[in-house]
Amino acid sequence: MPHNITLIPGDGVGPEVTEAARRVLEATGVKFNWEIAEVGEHAMKKYGTPLPDSVIASIKKNRVALKGPVTTPVGSGFRSVNVAIRKELELYACLRPCKLYPGIPARYKDVDIVVVRENLEDLYAGVEFEHGTDEALQLIKLIAETKRGVIRPDSGISIKAISEFRSKRIVKFAFDYARTNRRKRVTAVHKANIMKFSDGLFLACAREVANDYPDINFEDRIVDNMSMQLVLKPGQFDVIVAPNLYGDILSDLCAGLVGGLGVAPGANLSDDMAVFEATHGSAPKYTGLNKVNPMAMMLSGVLMLQYLGEKQAADRLENAISAVIAEGKNITYDLKPEAPEKAVGTSQVADAVIKALVPPSE
Ligand code: NAD
Repeated sequence: MPHNITLIPGDGVGPEVTEAARRVLEATGVKFNWEIAEVGEHAMKKYGTPLPDSVIASIKKNRVALKGPVTTPVGSGFRSVNVAIRKELELYACLRPCKLYPGIPARYKDVDIVVVRENLEDLYAGVEFEHGTDEALQLIKLIAETKRGVIRPDSGISIKAISEFRSKRIVKFAFDYARTNRRKRVTAVHKANIMKFSDGLFLACAREVANDYPDINFEDRIVDNMSMQLVLKPGQFDVIVAPNLYGDILSDLCAGLVGGLGVAPGANLSDDMAVFEATHGSAPKYTGLNKVNPMAMMLSGVLMLQYLGEKQAADRLENAISAVIAEGKNITYDLKPEAPEKAVGTSQVADAVIKALVPPSE
């Protein structure tokens, strides 16, 4: 039976990298029915909304989507489609493996970190009050009445809310992931020394959940120290679990440890739905140039195959990508900093990965 998958090409470099990923996924021999869905600026022009209901309906029906990056206008314009999809479908866990493949020019050896990011709350939830509005002024007045502090009247406000339910749920997800994937250690990241009621709650929840997993080591780190430790000695980390904003920042940092955003895949998961997408954004300046690395999207496809129970195809595709990187001939500019003029384009990488795929064993 073919797998029904919602395919969201996205914008910027999205259509190029999703097309490359679709080609290599099909070359594994696994059968797919792709249901194409448009979001972002194209959808805005056509349907008057950047996220038509039909897209959400398609993902709910198929339960699995492969998604390219989507541009979010900065400062004004519509809110992030990426965040809206996660919220709408309660995709509470963002999984971002950062693994160093042999042949990638990087500062360290043996980095194999998985960042588990809470996906729905924290400063990222988009609960905001624009400066100078009645609502912002009312809130400032209310806060003054509580005597918790004084906020200047010309402030814009973003709310950071962290709940017990969602903190426990994401930490449990991280420990279950660690157990299933034979990982040894979970590190919770926070700034509980300063934000005692939000990050402090996250840390307390993490400690409580950790008690149920005596087989896995648990530790916590303050986010600033964590950033330094990751840059100095990344080999000491295994699974990292973090609230939304720290998880977002640290997963880009970890991507930088293993060769950059061109090789950093991701998955957004609920208990019964999944949207697979690379960590990177739409890289607008490279749109249509057949230049950027499609491997992050392809590796997101590997995660999708694993999720679909197609383990052998997942292993074959990951091995093919790894072989292409190790050979070093058919790779994009980001993996060839010494000789970018010898780099190939997005679609040539897909050709090489397809060629490197070994046939399935009986
Ligand atoms: P970006 O990830 O798009 O690009 C930053 C830089 O990283 C690029 O200029 C490029 O040098 C490099 N890069 C990114 N992807 C690469 C690839 N596949 N191969 C090689 N190099 C690559 O980040 P940005 O410029 O901050 O964001 C651009 C837009 O993307 C913004 O509108 C942002 O909101 C959006 N965005 C979307 C998502 C998503 O769809 N999930 C995620 C992040 C950012």
